[in-house]
Amino acid sequence: MTPDASIVIPVYNEADSLPALHAKLLEVRPALGRACEIIYVDDGSRDGSFERLAAIAGADPLTTVIRLRRNFGQTAAIAAGVAEARGSAIVLLDADLQNDPADIPTLLQKINEGYDVVSGWRRKRRDPFISRRLPSVVANWLISRATGVPLHDYGCTLKAYRSEVVKNIPLYGEMHRLIPVYAAWIGARITEVPVNHHPRAYGQSKYGGWSRTFKVILDLITAMFLGGYGTKPIYLFGSVAAISCSLGVVFGAIVLYEKYALGFWAHRNPLLLLAVFVFLLGVQSLMMGLLAELGVRTYHESQQKPVYFVREVLRGGELGIRN
Ligand code: UDP
Ligand code: MG
Repeated sequence: MTPDASIVIPVYNEADSLPALHAKLLEVRPALGRACEIIYVDDGSRDGSFERLAAIAGADPLTTVIRLRRNFGQTAAIAAGVAEARGSAIVLLDADLQNDPADIPTLLQKINEGYDVVSGWRRKRRDPFISRRLPSVVANWLISRATGVPLHDYGCTLKAYRSEVVKNIPLYGEMHRLIPVYAAWIGARITEVPVNHHPRAYGQSKYGGWSRTFKVILDLITAMFLGGYGTKPIYLFGSVAAISCSLGVVFGAIVLYEKYALGFWAHRNPLLLLAVFVFLLGVQSLMMGLLAELGVRTYHESQQKPVYFVREVLRGGELGIRN
């Protein structure tokens, strides 16, 4: 049976919250009104999370556990889960119970209405202000302004995506936060839904607030440069080249005018040097733009390197048959 929706959950040292999390998921699953698989990705946990997950998968035919060989980071874990997901909609959720599984039906409802991305918005966020909420406000503002995709809460993992949209998005670094941006670039319809948020009850957060914001900003620049379907390096370098070469021509013309009309000696005129310099700079920029273009295409078309390596996959259904 092909599931209609897949819930993908990255797990890194969350052993204590897993039983409560799975119980809550089982509570909401009937309310989804359709077959729904749950995919846990154990991102190299060392606290017994995998053993808990194996027990859960052994008791639930619709649960799959993917175990990565080491800790590859939340984005890679999400990528592994998304690659495995078979549902027509994919819901991402944190394993720490800060997100509330009870919000999932609302998100999927919006997907049914025709949206491709439904972004959870932690309206009342239960995290410290200076270290977590403030950097998040800054990051959300920056991303919204830079990309033209205004969302209140890029950082909230709880979001629902139409499967073919999220499966086509490259995921590196901290880029799972930018999935809605990539989705918007390929023409997705996006909406926001306020969701519940709870303080962390078990385990510890894996991130510091400001260092993460810094990484997200760098990822944003990379995304704008490499991922923007409208962005081509040759446009940027080409503009620099055009301005630079034009200046070179203008300066050169002034030098010639000064030589023939006013009798200045060209080789004593500093403007000659400047004219040659900016003209060469322009030619160099153009060449660099072409090289960057070549690099970007190689990057996009030839690189199929996975960002994770799977150790094993446990499918609850198959475990059940063996027992
Ligand atoms: N996570 C992961 N790999 C990592 C770091 C985090 O799979 O290297 C998971 C973690 O288990 C949790 C989710 O990503 O389910 C979000 O992490 P966390 O709750 O620490 O982030 P915060 O809510 O503090 O922003
Ligand atoms: Mg959390």
